[in-house]
Amino acid sequence: MHFSFYPYQLKFRFPFAIAHGTRTHTEVVYLKVEYQGLTGWGEAALPPYLNETPHTVMQFLNRYSLAIAAMSLDEALALVQQTAEKNYPAMAALDMALWDIKLLQNGTSLHVGSSEILNKPLNTYTIGVCNAKEMNLKVDEALANGFKLFKLKLNGMYDERMVNDFRLITSLPFAVDANQSWADVSVAKEKAHWLNENGCIFIEQPFAQEELEKSAVLTQENILPVYADESCQTISDLGNLKDTFSGINIKLMKCGGITPALEMITKARQLNLKILLGCMSESTVGCRAAAHLAPLVDYTDLDGPFLISNDCFIGLKMENGSVKTDKLQQINNLRAS
Ligand code: MG
Repeated sequence: MHFSFYPYQLKFRFPFAIAHGTRTHTEVVYLKVEYQGLTGWGEAALPPYLNETPHTVMQFLNRYSLAIAAMSLDEALALVQQTAEKNYPAMAALDMALWDIKLLQNGTSLHVGSSEILNKPLNTYTIGVCNAKEMNLKVDEALANGFKLFKLKLNGMYDERMVNDFRLITSLPFAVDANQSWADVSVAKEKAHWLNENGCIFIEQPFAQEELEKSAVLTQENILPVYADESCQTISDLGNLKDTFSGINIKLMKCGGITPALEMITKARQLNLKILLGCMSESTVGCRAAAHLAPLVDYTDLDGPFLISNDCFIGLKMENGSVKTDKLQQINNLRAS
């Protein structure tokens, strides 16, 4: 196996504002793995929330690329998840690059042998906190790209305004992501009723990550499904979330790749939790890898490639409001480091 690394900066088409700040770009590291004539790609996306940097990711990848260089694909995949050092975005990049090769080798998707009609969940287009003018531009872009479901970022201050502005533009359904910005349970219940009346289909991470009791109260009111994002990082969090949330948001960058995401999906279903499959605004490489799991979940939020202006890859499309994977192709050069 031969490995190459490419640090890169993804630029947002619009500044991306959520409850905890505004970002104009995301640092990423691409990983190219060459093995037996095939090329697999991985991506580590590094929003500040994840506490990793291009440097720590490349250090990790350097170490493990040496360790797995002489291994078989399956041995390498197993070793990634056994690492004592948990650099989740780096693990995700490595895991998805190895899966990319594995799927190319088999010439198939992850869901081989299934004769049933595959589930095609709707993919959400995320709208950061913004004014009415910007909301118009974003909704127009999303509709032009074939989105039929939206996710509005809320920050606790402009929630009603965001929803009202959205409703003036379209009657399509939407979810909301409060990113931990709500504090009071009674206010949250009132908001949930109002959101429900306005066509909202679920609420993501209303309260602080550790405030599970508040989330449990809101979930048990049964007004709208409540999904955990920041409160659910890896499979070890799942035991605490049954009855606390209705569902979870799984992201490859949080859990360390396709392999652990598959385990989380199985465990979440055993616990009767709904599943949203999200991203950290990564580009086509990362979102396309996650999209292999789309038939196993209730909704996807794999909109990264549509939110950035300088994606170097193509290979993820929208079809009838859902994501569809295509052959991965590099369309712009990257500089190796
Ligand atoms: Mg979220």
